[in-house]
Amino acid sequence: MRLEQIDIKVGERLSQADFKEVFDQGVTGKGIEIRYDEKGQKYIWLFAKEEGRYNDDLGTEQFRFTGEDPQGHGVEDPKEENQELKRGNEALRNAIDTPVPIFLFYQSVAREGWEYRGMVEVISFEYKSDNGRYIYEFLLEPVEGDSEIPSPLQVDNSEQSTDTKEPPQTQSTVSRIVRNTALVKELKGQYEYTCQVCGDQRRRNNGEPYAEGHHIRPLGKPHNGADKKSNILVLCPNHHADFDFGRIRIDPQTFKINHAYESKVDGTELRRKKEHDIDERCVRYHNEGIVQF
Ligand SMILES: [Zn+2]
Repeated sequence: MRLEQIDIKVGERLSQADFKEVFDQGVTGKGIEIRYDEKGQKYIWLFAKEEGRYNDDLGTEQFRFTGEDPQGHGVEDPKEENQELKRGNEALRNAIDTPVPIFLFYQSVAREGWEYRGMVEVISFEYKSDNGRYIYEFLLEPVEGDSEIPSPLQVDNSEQSTDTKEPPQTQSTVSRIVRNTALVKELKGQYEYTCQVCGDQRRRNNGEPYAEGHHIRPLGKPHNGADKKSNILVLCPNHHADFDFGRIRIDPQTFKINHAYESKVDGTELRRKKEHDIDERCVRYHNEGIVQF
């Protein structure tokens, strides 16, 4: 099964057998499930429960989703365990900068199966204290255009010729997100997975190079940055954090780096490939709205 071929409608209720039919894979019961399609494209299923603290308003507004607890229970009260930035939590955090398709399902206590609620994107996250322990809380938002309410435009179209029929909503939304992921991947390749700030290259446990994509002007509300190469930087995890926390300022003209506390990179120039144009306006937005020193 290829991700772009998936066609489910918001409101559709899926049983375990339906999951296998639509996605080729079944549900294991975790709240955050990381999946790959036959071409290796990553995607995520999120399961929100009707009861308990997941009782969010899963409407068209932003909502909060609590991360997953560490595995290997056995402690008396698992609630005392701090959540970790691993597995599902790490996948959601990474999706802020490198979006992957995220399918939201809603499990009601009264009825069997899981109801598909549309695709969502991760806007931001917080690591916060909750009843004596730390949890991850993700701010999610429905992906624009993946709503169950047809727009007036779509209604108009239906009255005209159906020769050039648009692909179903899920398919076009998935395609858009997959395209954006490809963009970040391509840029990482151009930099050979080296950080544009320090030039370092990290490696995964399998030896493959690792880098992170950062949107200079963040995606989603309230920033509404664009998903284009000129708004993306390739960074190591440390300098990615520095950008997120506003510890790095970039001169939009000279691309000189001004770091709040790291003298090793302070005053050096941001590494840029000839074919990678960086949008000056995005850099200004970062300096004015995100930098905090
Ligand atoms: Zn770096």
